[in-house]
Amino acid sequence: MKRILLLLTLCSLLSAHFSPLTAQNSPPKSHISQPKLFVLIVVDQLPYEQLERFKPYFSDNGFNYLMNNGANFINTNYEYAYTKTACGHAAIATGTNPDMNGIVGNAWYDRTKKKTVNCVGDENEQLVGKEGAGKSPRTLTTYTLGDMLKLSTNFRSKVIGVSNKDRAAILTGGKFGNAYWTDGAGFVSSTYYAKELPAWVTKFNKSGFIQKFFGQKWELLKPEIAATICDEDSNTYESSYAGMGATFPHFVTGDDRTKISDSYFTAVETSPFLTEILFEFAKQTITAESLGTRGVTDMLSVGISATDIIGHNYGPNSPEVFDNLLRTDKYIAEFLSFLDKQFGLYNCLIALSADHGIAPIPEYLVKKSPLTDAGRIGTDSVKKACLNILNNKFSAAESLWVEKVVENNIYVNKEFIKNSRHPDESAILQTLKDSLPLRLPVFASYTLEDLEKNSLPEKLRQQVQHSCYPPRCGDLMFVFKPYWILDGAKDGTNHGMPWKYDTHVPLIFFGSNVTPGTFADDASPIDLAPTVASLLGIEFPASGAGKVRSEIVLQK
Ligand SMILES: [Zn+2]
Repeated sequence: MKRILLLLTLCSLLSAHFSPLTAQNSPPKSHISQPKLFVLIVVDQLPYEQLERFKPYFSDNGFNYLMNNGANFINTNYEYAYTKTACGHAAIATGTNPDMNGIVGNAWYDRTKKKTVNCVGDENEQLVGKEGAGKSPRTLTTYTLGDMLKLSTNFRSKVIGVSNKDRAAILTGGKFGNAYWTDGAGFVSSTYYAKELPAWVTKFNKSGFIQKFFGQKWELLKPEIAATICDEDSNTYESSYAGMGATFPHFVTGDDRTKISDSYFTAVETSPFLTEILFEFAKQTITAESLGTRGVTDMLSVGISATDIIGHNYGPNSPEVFDNLLRTDKYIAEFLSFLDKQFGLYNCLIALSADHGIAPIPEYLVKKSPLTDAGRIGTDSVKKACLNILNNKFSAAESLWVEKVVENNIYVNKEFIKNSRHPDESAILQTLKDSLPLRLPVFASYTLEDLEKNSLPEKLRQQVQHSCYPPRCGDLMFVFKPYWILDGAKDGTNHGMPWKYDTHVPLIFFGSNVTPGTFADDASPIDLAPTVASLLGIEFPASGAGKVRSEIVLQK
């Protein structure tokens, strides 16, 4: 018995020694100070269930470290219906739903410009670091947590968003902050922030770090476990491009295997190495910008995108998603270790969440259980169905009834309807509402008028209402039945519906002033901003709708 105990002690000593988090891995007892750095980690496409499903295979120092030593809200769901990337990042940053922050999708239809606009597109700006159309957070109809941090320190705090996606960096960077994101061969920014890239960003771009993965083989870290807990590696419903193939090992070269071409950068984006690039850039951001060393709290937001790209292509049950999350866990562990060495981990405040979950690939469900009611329909088919319905009803052969279908929004052609033989727009919308479920897997659809009424089901009505910022959303908004995805591609999968697999995401707080624990009460990602504001002792974002999770806020 004694020997076993001795062995156990020795083991725990050894493992403590090898833990990267040795410097200050317990909270300072005597007083709690203002954190030096607030780090927001947003994982693009991370349903909470993946943290639970893969928990036994993660290291102790990444996701598990944050879950075990932080405050983990295990029942966190988005409150709105259309769970797209931009909406999630805007909700986390502002503490509001799309009805308040205006970000109703990754894109929406602008009736005055008569075109679909990108959520962060800005015609008044230019890219910096590369030729291209500019971006900005101007479409946000409110302000962010980072904006409040800057306001609270007379703009001495630095707020920087870094990501592999423009919308992730820009929406979390806020209106007063800064943002850098990858675009092909380097990190870029926009004239909204500055006329040129800082020297350290140019230096990073020239360092060859992004190019160094050419020819790298992506192999499974735990093949035996993958073979047990994941779907088969080879399936026709997996998406493959830029020379990546659908099975392991994946070669990161791009279509040209002999030299670096544009397609190489697409290949890197479809690999876990994109996250390695992102965290290297995040570390350099901290060092080059002297974050956390200037006597005020700074904010760095890190938006991990590879999880989304890999998840879309291979699906949440694939070995690729499993392996990528194991590697993401390692990168997070290394980053925590870096923060610990720089500042002492408990001098940082860390919050981790995700912008949305993901639906299983419909064909995977059908393969496993052939009678499953699941499938995929693209927006083109939705538009076609609308035209058929109206032409049948009114014995017409028109193609102009519907101006555009963008994501879950149907925009009818008001001008055309007004001048047609059937000028009653609400009758047209009612016809679509009645007939769409007969042709498509539509569970429910709503007009703006419906949202004002207390129509059933109430919970869903509220979710759609939270997704709806009237100047930008469609005349008719629809929700598909569970396990039907709105996706025109022939393979891969998608998110964007109000069902739990899309809405249920992690919400974890760790570090300075945070009372650790596991909390099973309902929570929302819009609680992140007011809770962090409270932990930092700053004003809440202007239109904040989320709740302060007071159970984790240590009394100073
Ligand atoms: Zn996505």
